[in-house]
Amino acid sequence: MSDNLYDVIVLGAGPAGLAAAAAAREKGASVLVIEREQKAGGILKQCIHDGFGLLHFGERLTGPEYALKCLEQAQNAGAESLFSAFVCAAEKEESGFSLELQTQGGMRQVSCKALVLACGCRERTAKQVSIHGDRPAGVMTAGTAQYFVNVMGCLPTKSCVILGSGDIGLIMARRLTLEGAKVLGVYEAKSEPSGLARNIAQCLNDFSIPLHLSSTVTRVFGSERVQGVEVCRVDENMRPIEGSEQRIDGDALILSVGLIPENEIAESLGVEIDPATKGPFVDQNFMTSVPGVFCCGNALAVHDLVDYVSEGAAKAGAAAALYDATHNRMLTPLAYRKEDFLCVVPQFTDESSLGNMMLALRSRHDVKNASVELVFQNGAAKTYRFQRLSPAEMAVIHVDAKENGVVQSVHLEVRT
Ligand SMILES: Cc1cc2nc3c(=O)[nH]c(=O)nc-3n(C[C@H](O)[C@H](O)[C@H](O)COP(=O)(O)OP(=O)(O)OC[C@H]3O[C@@H](n4cnc5c(N)ncnc54)[C@H](O)[C@@H]3O)c2cc1C
Repeated sequence: MSDNLYDVIVLGAGPAGLAAAAAAREKGASVLVIEREQKAGGILKQCIHDGFGLLHFGERLTGPEYALKCLEQAQNAGAESLFSAFVCAAEKEESGFSLELQTQGGMRQVSCKALVLACGCRERTAKQVSIHGDRPAGVMTAGTAQYFVNVMGCLPTKSCVILGSGDIGLIMARRLTLEGAKVLGVYEAKSEPSGLARNIAQCLNDFSIPLHLSSTVTRVFGSERVQGVEVCRVDENMRPIEGSEQRIDGDALILSVGLIPENEIAESLGVEIDPATKGPFVDQNFMTSVPGVFCCGNALAVHDLVDYVSEGAAKAGAAAALYDATHNRMLTPLAYRKEDFLCVVPQFTDESSLGNMMLALRSRHDVKNASVELVFQNGAAKTYRFQRLSPAEMAVIHVDAKENGVVQSVHLEVRT
């Protein structure tokens, strides 16, 4: 094997990429992890709060501690890694994939038999939500604010408004308050919060930070630096209600308005994208519509628990290591009602390689006492009970597809 040819190349050294790399090595594959940043860990590097790892490592860790454990696993397994390396182009070749990289030492070409995409996701910016006014300094995403505070040690605001009730925004509301800034309010256009219930309680309620539902920011004031924002109520179609406008003075607008999986490389390889997750369609082995290309972590679908990222990514890495280009898949789509679920992953079952399957789903609405029924191709059905399902919390079901066969559909019922 030449220096530049690997069985598996993993793009991204966040928790997903590191878990995929460790699992692929454990199956005996030669593995290269490519990361555009200088260090491994992905988004966890800036998440200095704790609460990570209870399921996966059985202990309560901070983001950097969790990332370090993942890095050690990948390194101990013998995965090679390349940092500060940017993938400029990826191409499908007859016997695998070739990648063109820009590295600190210049351009480099590497090839592999199977590719694992673990590139994470990016935050929506002010450009993707309609806010009138100038773009003065002080309009930033919650992740950028988190980077300023936790990595650079700078406080980017003295008093701010947060738009959107996503988890990063909630965590930053608490963090900025602890650092001495005044968070004037969190404004959410939907009638329900987007973040986890525990984050609403621990990050807003515990610090008396007001959450305004069915409300949004319509205008930014200020030319060089934000001087204030205009907020208003919205109707059930999320249209601003005339006459409800109010000006709030502050020096920053922090956006927590959603995450989008990073899939430029997947798309350049012709991977089909699910409009529901904005990540690739995959089967239970995390293989995309392009044979030999696997996807996991936040690049596949936005996860709220890193523990599930690690679990799924390990399956993806192991499957990539065992990838056989001559094997023909037998894919059955998994049906669900869009009125019940925002998304279900995987979207396909490959009948030719059934095994343990991890099924992740998000309900469209908040549902208490929910039953999720899986119907198998042989007509059998299994029911899983949940005290509560919520769009903010990904639910995971483990299915033994070897025993039960192909999952044909998922149904939601409310117990009375
Ligand atoms: C603020 C915040 C708070 C959170 N809190 C919790 C919590 O309390 N508990 C919990 O369990 N989870 C939490 N999460 C979720 C968890 O951190 C994520 O689900 C997890 O980090 C996603 O892992 P990933 O590897 O898919 O993506 P990332 O961590 O984003 O890693 C992706 C990596 O890929 C690299 N990359 C991207 N494109 C390329 C490319 N083309 N070439 C090379 N490299 C590339 C990136 O630089 C990055 O290092 C939180 C997330 C955030 C943002």
